[in-house]
Order: sequence, then structure tokens, then C-alpha cells
Amino acid sequence: MAKTDIEIAQEATMLPITQVAERAGLKPEQLELYGNHKAKVDIHALKDAPMKGKLVLVTAINPTPAGEGKTTTSVGLEDALCRMGKNALLCLREPSLGPVFGIKGGAAGGGYAQVVPMEDINLHFTGDFHAIGAANNLCAAMLDNHIKQGNALGIDPRRIVWKRCVDMNDRQLRSVVDGLGGVANGMPREDGFDITVASEVMAVFCLATDLMDLKARLGRMVVAYTYDRRPVTVHDIHAEGAMTALLKDAIKPNLVQTLENNPAFVHGGPFANIAHGCNSVEATTTALKLADYVVTEAGFGADLGAEKFLDIKCRYAGIKPDAVVLVATVRALKYNGGVPKAELGEENLEAVRAGLPNLLRHVSNVKDVWGLPVVVAVNAFPTDTEAELALVERECEKLGVNVALSEVWAKGGEGGLALAEEVVRLCEQPSDFRFAYELDESLGDKISDIATKVYHADGVDYTTKAAKQLKELEDLGFGGLPVCVAKTQYSFTDDQHKLGAPEGFRITVRNLKVSAGAGFVVALTGDIMTMPGLPKVPAAEKIDVTPDGRIVGLF
Ligand code: ADP
Ligand code: MG
Repeated sequence: MAKTDIEIAQEATMLPITQVAERAGLKPEQLELYGNHKAKVDIHALKDAPMKGKLVLVTAINPTPAGEGKTTTSVGLEDALCRMGKNALLCLREPSLGPVFGIKGGAAGGGYAQVVPMEDINLHFTGDFHAIGAANNLCAAMLDNHIKQGNALGIDPRRIVWKRCVDMNDRQLRSVVDGLGGVANGMPREDGFDITVASEVMAVFCLATDLMDLKARLGRMVVAYTYDRRPVTVHDIHAEGAMTALLKDAIKPNLVQTLENNPAFVHGGPFANIAHGCNSVEATTTALKLADYVVTEAGFGADLGAEKFLDIKCRYAGIKPDAVVLVATVRALKYNGGVPKAELGEENLEAVRAGLPNLLRHVSNVKDVWGLPVVVAVNAFPTDTEAELALVERECEKLGVNVALSEVWAKGGEGGLALAEEVVRLCEQPSDFRFAYELDESLGDKISDIATKVYHADGVDYTTKAAKQLKELEDLGFGGLPVCVAKTQYSFTDDQHKLGAPEGFRITVRNLKVSAGAGFVVALTGDIMTMPGLPKVPAAEKIDVTPDGRIVGLF
């Protein structure tokens, strides 16, 4: 039987993190050690160093519910680049405890392309998410205290938009009534919890360019509206200083290593629907100062993840990728070709062919909308047949699409050499990067640009409520922000059942809200769950610890 991810990870021979740091060009005094295999990097020491590296974005076609192996491919690509003798660094998101204990499991790669120590990375790691939760909840406590202490700002308790948070899938906390128990115990009100990764503090944390930018962004977050409908910010309740104090260490990127002992930053992890879904700007820009090649991943498929990476993160951070890797799997092609989840393991060349238009639309988007060179990485699964893999390669080549088979899951960096060679080649090509929309367009035009250019929709409709909110947000002065669309990850449309490359559809925006600190307006096209629940049999039921403290059953 094939070894599980955690078995492979626990057999790895890790180097002391100080040696890994040396490989990354970091001096011992630039490290803050968290044991022998984890360290935080002192960002202040590198503040003025120039960014010299090539940036490689790993994204994907519209996925199956199981994920297409973007993280796995990213890890394997960095290992392959290092095998080629390149000076490379990897930047990934930190896993959330919600999926670890829920359905999806860990998020540290898979097979022979993982970052380690995987059980630490997937569990508490260096405590960043707890710090983010504490900062978020400090703000909530100060907000309710302000109301209890006389409510000088005139906050309408029915218009509080700030939620408490915890890094756990706990649907019981989605909606709560708190402040019960009489005058001494606060003001009773309807409240709720989000999972920490869905909090705006997380998005702010990941977009902040330094500690003072972090504080300024935290201060701009809207927590509530007054009785006369004016926004109340974190700055208004004087919370940003203490929140930043709680985050001053968390904001430093975490250094770990791959199974092949190459350096990796794993830092920050915002949702990819109501937020932008990629690791911290701090980690990416630090990596670009240290390495010649920086590989990073964006969440979901390219319509959501790459779009936000490019139009939000790159815009704010002043960076741009030199090449894009689009991960495709035979499974996802079959899924987009109409095969139900349970039958994805069986050979079906017709379905692979039927799913190709999905892949091709993402490829042409990357080239034509953003002007970037792209290579398709076919992430080979043990269930794929030779004929299926050959079909994908042949069809891509026929259409002039760069393609490389990636076998990093089974073989580590060795299995990613073809992909790495193509990536290096693409990084030398001239590119003509542009955004999908400009900031001086109206919010409506920006949403329309994303929907028509990236999703290939005919246009955008607004519910009555959303149309009103659009106007309110423009009136409040938020019209100049980028837009973050919250949409199903399974389809180019806002209907998760329309797979492939649908045409002749419109997008419906149902709700709009501002994340003023993160610096974007969120356009919601459906109900987006910001506090997930656990499934019938949670992954947590299998996780255990041996008497000597070794973790088992995590995947
Ligand atoms: P993503 O980042 O796209 O969500 P991951 O890299 O986390 O995807 O992979 C999702 C799951 O699929 C992981 O459990 C991983 O071990 C598994 N996986 C990824 N690639 C392969 C592959 N080539 N063969 C088998 N399993 C794979
Ligand atoms: Mg991933």
C-alpha cells in the first residue's frame, strides 16, 4: 500500500533550520528560532534589500472537490528548480485547523512533495493564527465594551459587522446571542463567529507591507455603523495599536523546509472567496529579496485565485509574476467533462476531451487578460492511465499550449524537472503584464470587467439589495478599491453545476461589503460560508498521538 503523506513526512531527514536558512541566504542573526525545524525571519533586517527574484505563480483549472495538487506542484517545482542548481524559495499559505479536522485534511503538499514538519505546520505551527484570532477578538471585546460604557460613538448594535472568530469548523457558533445576564454583563445582541481564516484581520495581515502598514490597515477596518449609518472603524475605538502589538511577531514569515531540505516560507492563509487567498505579501517580498526564483500558490482555480493574486495582491505589493503554472489533472478534466465524482478513477478519454475547454479558457485568460506566459502542469495521479495523460499532452501541443507532465507527488523534485525547465525558459521571455481592470473605474465597471473578461459572462445583474449597496459604497468613498469576488470555485459561472467552459450566462451579485482595511470591496454572488461545519465523520476522528508524542492519522 502506498505510504500516507504523514508517513512519508515523518521518514524525512530534516536539516536543522539554521542550515536551511543558510541555503536561503539568511544569516543566523536574521532568524528567530521556534525549536530546531521552524524559524521566523526578521523582516526589519531585510527591509531595504532589493527584490531580485523571478516570481512564479502556481494556479489551476476549475477543481474537483478534492483539490488538484497546486500545493503539491508548488513544492515539487521548487525542489526541481533546486535540483537544477537554481536558488529557489517557496511561499505557501498556512493551513487552517478547520479543514485539517474537517474534510480536506492538511495543506502541506502531498506524497514526495511536502513541506515539513508537516504535523506542526498543520496544527499550531508558530501560533500565527491564534495571534490573529486574539487580535480579532480584542477588537470585538473593545467594541462591545464601548457600547456598554455609554456608546459615545452612537454605534447601532443591530449594525455591527464585526464578528468574533476561532480557527475551527464549528457551526454551532455561526449565530449566537451574547451579552445576556443583566446590566453588569453587557448589551444583549445577535452576534456570530467566523473561522479565523475568514476574518478581515487575516486578509489585512496577508496584504500588509510592514508593521506600520499593518497598523494603518487594521485602523481602517469597519466594525459597525452608527444609528445615522456612518461607518465606525477600528481606529474610532482605538484598538489598532494593541491589535498590532498582538501581531508583531506573527507578521514575520515562517521558515521551514521541503522533504528535499529546500527552504520554504509558510505564512498567512486567508479565504479565497471573501478574501484574496494567498500567502502574506511579507513572505513573498522577503523571498523575492533572497532567491532567484520564488514559487507561490494562489487558492482555488485561476478564475478566482490567480485573478485576485494578480489584481489585488500584486497591485498592492508592487510585484508581478514572470511565469504562471496552471495545474491540471486528468481527474479535474473528466469532472469538467461531466463525470460524477465517484467515477473519476475510471479511464474515460471522451470525458478528458470534453473537459479540455475549461483548461484552454484558463490558459488564454492568463495570456490575453494579464499578458503572462503560462505552462500547463499535468499533475499525474496513480489512477490516470497512459492514454489519458498522453491525450492531454497531445491536445495541448496541438493547440500550441506549453505543457509538462509533473510527477512530483510520486518522485519529488526529480519528477518536476521537465516543468522546472519550462518555467525557467518562460521566466526569460518578455511579458506584458496588465491588470484585468483599473482602479479608477467605477465598482460596477470593475466587477463587469472581471465577469466578462475572466469568466466570459455576458454581463452582471444585481439584486435590489446589492444595487443599493453598490451605490452606498461609492457614496462612502470606497469606489476606488479593487474588487474581490466571492463565487463558487467549481465553475466560471456563479452556479457550481455549470462545469467546463460555459457561454451565454450572466453573473448575479447578491451582496456587497467593504473590507476597508484589507482594501477591497467584496462582491458576493451566492451564500458564502464563513464558519464551516464538520462533516458526518470528521478527519479529527482519525487523528491520534502515540505515547512518545508522535502524531498519526493526519493527512
Ligand atoms: P491544492 O493545493 O490544489 O488544494 P493539494 O496539493 O493540497 O491541492 O493536494 C490535494 C490532495 O491531493 C492532497 O491530499 C495530496 O496529497 C493529493 N494529491 C496531490 N497530487 C497528487 C497526485 N499526483 N497523486 C495522488 N494524490 C495527489
Ligand atoms: Mg493548496
